[in-house]
Amino acid sequence: MGKYFADIFEAVTSVMKGMQISIKHIYKKPVTLQYPDHRQVLPERYRGFVHNDMTKCDSCNICAKLCPVDCIYIESEGKGKERMMTRYAIDYNKCIWCSLCTENCHTGSITMSHDYDHSVYDRRSLVYEFMDPSEGVIPCHRGTRVDMGWWVEPKAEKPKPKPKPETETPSDDKPSDEKGVEN
Ligand code: SF4
Ligand code: SF4
Repeated sequence: MGKYFADIFEAVTSVMKGMQISIKHIYKKPVTLQYPDHRQVLPERYRGFVHNDMTKCDSCNICAKLCPVDCIYIESEGKGKERMMTRYAIDYNKCIWCSLCTENCHTGSITMSHDYDHSVYDRRSLVYEFMDPSEGVIPCHRGTRVDMGWWVEPKAEKPKPKPKPETETPSDDKPSDEKGVEN
C-alpha cells in the first residue's frame, strides 16, 4: 500500500518538475528554427556543397587534379582551339569539403556554397552534373571562348620589372701604404 502511494507521489512530482521547466522557458526566445521556412545565417566562409559556375569554367582540370578524393569528373573532346568540355560533375558521396578545388581555381568559377540540405533517397543522385545538355558543349580555349562570347578571366597585369640597383664603380684610389711607395 505504501509503495502504491509512493509511486503516485513520484509521478506527480516528476510531472510538476517538467511543468516547472516548461513554464520557465515559455516566454524565452526559442533557440530552434522553424526549418525549412527559417534558416540559420551561416558564416561567410561556411563550406557547403561545392558549386561551379559553368559560364566561367574553362575545363583547365586543375580542380580535378588537386581533389584528394578524385570526385570531380571533367570530360572534353577535341584539341587546341577546338577543345570543348562535354561533362563537369562532382560526386558528393566522396567530397570531403576540403576546399582545395576552390582555392586553386584560376577563374574563380568553383566556390563553396551555403547549401547544406541535399537529402536524397538514392546515393547516385549525389553525383551532380553541372552541364546543361540543352546548352551543348563549352569551349575551353581562351581565344575560342572570346570569339564565342564566353566569359574569360581578365589577364593579370604583369608586374613592372624592378629597377636595377646601381653598382659601385671600382675606385683607382688606393690607400697610401698600398701604392708601392718606397721607403
Ligand atoms: S572540396 Fe575537396 S573533396 Fe570536395 S570536390 Fe573540392 S577538392 Fe574535391
Ligand atoms: S579549376 Fe576552375 S576553371 Fe579549371 S576546371 Fe576547375 S572549376 Fe573549371
